[in-house]
Amino acid sequence: MRHLFFGLAFVAGPLAAQTVSPPKEAAASITSADVAHHIGVIADDSMLGRDTPSRGLELTAAYVADQFRRYGLRPGGDSGSYLQRYRIVQRKLDVAGSRVTLRAGRTAAVARFDRTARFLQGTVSGVPLAGVAVLLGGRLTADAVGRLPLRGRIVVYAADADALPSREALQVGRAIRLAAPRAVVLVSNLPPERFASRIPRSTPARTAPDFRLESAPFVEVSQAAVAPVLRAAAIDLEAVRADTAPVFRELPGLRVTVELRDSVFHASSAPNTIGILDGSDPELRRQYLVYSAHMDHIGISPGRPDSVNNGADDDASGTTGVIELARAFSRPGARPKRSIIFLTVSGEEKGLWGSRYFTEHPPVPIGRIVADLNMDMIGRNWRDTIVAIGRKQSNLGETLERVNRAHPELRMTAVDDRWPEERFYFRSDHYNFARKGVPILFFFNGVHPDYHQPTDSPDKIDSEKEARILRLLYYLGREVGDAPVRPQWKPESYREIVDDSGSGE
Ligand SMILES: [Zn+2]
Repeated sequence: MRHLFFGLAFVAGPLAAQTVSPPKEAAASITSADVAHHIGVIADDSMLGRDTPSRGLELTAAYVADQFRRYGLRPGGDSGSYLQRYRIVQRKLDVAGSRVTLRAGRTAAVARFDRTARFLQGTVSGVPLAGVAVLLGGRLTADAVGRLPLRGRIVVYAADADALPSREALQVGRAIRLAAPRAVVLVSNLPPERFASRIPRSTPARTAPDFRLESAPFVEVSQAAVAPVLRAAAIDLEAVRADTAPVFRELPGLRVTVELRDSVFHASSAPNTIGILDGSDPELRRQYLVYSAHMDHIGISPGRPDSVNNGADDDASGTTGVIELARAFSRPGARPKRSIIFLTVSGEEKGLWGSRYFTEHPPVPIGRIVADLNMDMIGRNWRDTIVAIGRKQSNLGETLERVNRAHPELRMTAVDDRWPEERFYFRSDHYNFARKGVPILFFFNGVHPDYHQPTDSPDKIDSEKEARILRLLYYLGREVGDAPVRPQWKPESYREIVDDSGSGE
């Protein structure tokens, strides 16, 4: 692909080398050899895919902390260290103490988790979630779901066992979760015996961080088990499934109670790594810019010839970005007026755990964090473009454009989100900053056939390309770090993302 600003290129002559400014030197110090080296370490087989929690993840966090120490960053973690830890617990559903009850007038039916109900995902609060239901079904799209008033509602979803699990269904599921309902009850038309056979004999353990994630529980119930109530409420789910348009309607006659209990049987913890570089201005240094990336990946896939998911692009590339930027900014004269927090988180693949914990327990007041520049998968695909998601949501987009235009020598163009239907804005760590009111940009080169496969290995990384992206990110950080005014949200985006995210709950 051609880059757009060729015509504006100026050529730096050989004389320029004698008068290079510290920022230019700092940017130039980011090399493809350094990038390849760090990715080689972090995505090595010995890291065993950096699952959360795991020994490989701990080794990665220690490696990042070691780099931060070398560059003289100030520790931003727990008790004077670079590591910030959050507790992770393994829980098992209390099958006897959990149930889903549907009630229409005098008719009631109870689905239980040993035969007629199945837990799918979400938070188990121990508190009964009850309310009048809304019905969802027909031919749904993520966009259609995004426009529905599902917040705080109990959603009854006419799931169709005959429909194959598809990318579209996944997107719809994600859109339902993002709409923040209170609970989601999928009603399955699988024959009762087949439904029961899908319930595992011994309750599987669920690993989750020990803090509130506020994600609605999704449970599935067998339609046969609740059929009398559906009849009493005059709900014909077969007709809903057959509908070729989205179906959404209130069900004033149907009251649903989801009761879920579980118990903890094992506890551990996982690390974030935090290093702080103080800004050069006595006033502005009290504000902070964050560079973030996730150092965890998905662990191993047993039974495959090469079982280690190396996660070289996802996201050893971003983790390396944080390390390299920390090194570049800590050179003499290279830091901006504002301070910088260099952050590598864990648990991203599990559900943005580490960034959630960080934004709930930041080392500085969250209101003093002026921007998050997040990197997730920046080492593959197109040689001369990088997608920057979030450009339209704040004036960071315009700043990026200006910086990009000023550095044609990088042969790197930041372009708009190419896959809005995938809702990537909500799918990496920057989202936890955005929902807290921090403007973000998310740098991402898109997925590829090696995504979440053992073949996402260091040899496939284009480290030369990544080095140019990181130089651009260095210049962007200088600009944001030195600007007299901090980045500003676009008002309608603020309303949509911050006001609507439930962060004020
Ligand atoms: Zn991933």
